[in-house]
Amino acid sequence: MSDTPRSVVVIGASQTAAVAARTLRRRGFDGGIVLVGDEPHAPYQRPPLSKELLEGAADDSDAALLTEQWCRDNAVELRLGTPARRIDTAAGAVELADGTTVPGDRFLLATGASARRLPGVAEDDERIVHLRGLDDALRLRSLLRPGGRLVIVGAGFVGSEVASTALARGVRPVVIEQAPVPQARVLGEEMGAFCADVQRAAGVELHTGETVASVRTGPDGVVVTTESGLRVEGDAVVVAVGAVPNTAVARASGIAVENGVLVDERCRTSVPGIFAAGDVANHRHPVYGRWVRVEHFDNANKQGMVAAKNILGRPAVHGDPHWFWSDQFGLNLQHVGHARSWDRLVVRGSVAERDFTAFYLEEGVLRAAFAAERGGDVMAAKELIARGAAPDPARLADEDVDLAELAGQADEAAAEPALAGGK
Ligand SMILES: Cc1cc2nc3c(=O)[nH]c(=O)nc-3n(C[C@H](O)[C@H](O)[C@H](O)COP(=O)(O)OP(=O)(O)OC[C@H]3O[C@@H](n4cnc5c(N)ncnc54)[C@H](O)[C@@H]3O)c2cc1C
Repeated sequence: MSDTPRSVVVIGASQTAAVAARTLRRRGFDGGIVLVGDEPHAPYQRPPLSKELLEGAADDSDAALLTEQWCRDNAVELRLGTPARRIDTAAGAVELADGTTVPGDRFLLATGASARRLPGVAEDDERIVHLRGLDDALRLRSLLRPGGRLVIVGAGFVGSEVASTALARGVRPVVIEQAPVPQARVLGEEMGAFCADVQRAAGVELHTGETVASVRTGPDGVVVTTESGLRVEGDAVVVAVGAVPNTAVARASGIAVENGVLVDERCRTSVPGIFAAGDVANHRHPVYGRWVRVEHFDNANKQGMVAAKNILGRPAVHGDPHWFWSDQFGLNLQHVGHARSWDRLVVRGSVAERDFTAFYLEEGVLRAAFAAERGGDVMAAKELIARGAAPDPARLADEDVDLAELAGQADEAAAEPALAGGK
């Protein structure tokens, strides 16, 4: 395989693909770029689908990522509305479901994820929505009628954002969540309880510890029942129970898959010349030292960029702690890092006033932070996490201590062992 590719085929035409295409051109690549997408739309952003676009404050052009004009000007070909089936590296081509092929000598899997299905829930009723794409969001928007009632299964970030947007549109949301405390898996019980309080205070009817048993549709709407016998009626139901990585193309191409497409620090799959990035990639993270797959906008952008650079033979690594935000119930929530077994939670600010940052420490080392209305704290925490810092908990909690300065101090601390080693 030559070092310089002549043509790059990206499978999936969304966030990761758009960033990869832009990076390839910005880095001076003048070979062919084709984005193969199964949706009929040019690349667009998904975060507005549960927020501004669902509310009606933005339309699909606001969410656009690469316009057709940009693609023409930059010689990026969009092959939309047709899924890819497999990559045939021996032939140097991607096979599409319509029987055609797209030649290339480097390939990027950017197939993302699909909304997880609940077993036994029908797919063919327009009042049952799995929110993942633009068409789902536009359909859901048309179902949000003021005075109506919306059932949402799942109180994760997407389900909560939908509940918040429904309220803003004058619709009464009823949320059914299987876990006793929403989002406890990522945030822990204390911060999960904060999220539940925010929802209930806003007017969401939130039922926790309830497992859905059936979803039925009839002439008057939908009826959701749970194993405990709870029965909830609504005009429509949104199933927001997570996402699963789209690995069919990788599997059909003989690429190693385990909770997504396994990639190394440089987004390289098990097959030379094929890269994967974004929601579909289970990435060997250099800071965490293990494989991690996340479904975050920021990660899609950074991995898309890193994959493009490596496609061009310029070694690059994505080693940032993972970061995401969520806008709901008038609050900007942000989370950075990964904490699996923290032993200390330190809070700066006031949870009651919804203006705080919670820091997750494992044996003194800062692993993650979750904040309401404190994006600045989260950015400082990101620096500390990336350096494996063990900041003084009292200083973390002290509003008079500038976190950015603390991050700077961590820098100096991180430099010390190297200086010592150089003596
Ligand atoms: C409703 C919603 C709200 C969100 N809000 C936030 C937020 O607030 N903050 C945040 O950090 N993140 C948010 N996210 C997550 C973020 O949007 C994703 O992390 C990001 O879209 C991932 O980009 P991607 O390109 O890797 O995958 P995707 O965006 O999933 O795109 C993959 C594309 O590949 C296509 N595809 C799949 N298989 C094939 C095939 N065989 N052939 C051709 N095409 C194929 C898919 O149809 C899709 O178009 C949100 C996601 C959703 C759904």
